Amino acid sequence: MEVAEGAILTQNTSWKNAESALRRLKGKTVDELLDHDSLGDLIKSAGFYVQKERYLRAFLRYYSSKIESLSLPTDARNELLDLKGIGKETSDSIALYALHQRTVPVDSYTLRLFNRYLGTDYSMTDYEEIRTALIGVFNQEQLMEFHALIDEHCKEVCRKFPRCDSCSINENCLRNY
Ligand code: SF4
Repeated sequence: MEVAEGAILTQNTSWKNAESALRRLKGKTVDELLDHDSLGDLIKSAGFYVQKERYLRAFLRYYSSKIESLSLPTDARNELLDLKGIGKETSDSIALYALHQRTVPVDSYTLRLFNRYLGTDYSMTDYEEIRTALIGVFNQEQLMEFHALIDEHCKEVCRKFPRCDSCSINENCLRNY
């Protein structure tokens, strides 16, 4: 549940802002959160809190119904996509990290690294193409690690203004010619 909450709260904001909101949700059960009168106040620091409260409630209701029937579907990704406010990136994050399903979110870091390293011109419209290619190559555990490494690399090294001199993969990077 924490993974899912994190995936929703990080939409359009930094991890730092989402993290303090997440701390306020920590330890609360699904029912406690659903019954909470001011859930929005708890997650205010994550920004867009009115909208995110709606998304969070939609997810919690879904999660609650699945827990009651003890049936988290093997294709939860597509069910999550039907929920309000859950887009592909969020549903793939939840499915990969929380439900351990073989999928992967394609985020802006992935696009940045691929485009720089491979010299491609991918955009979010190529989401399915990239996701399908990756799940064709990696198993679920590898996808978790691969995605985490991309995000880490883009936060620390392949930043908006890349630090190519200290990049461990600069030898074959097409941007680093
Ligand atoms: S060499 Fe530069 S552009 Fe290429 S992956 Fe490394 S940091 Fe990014």
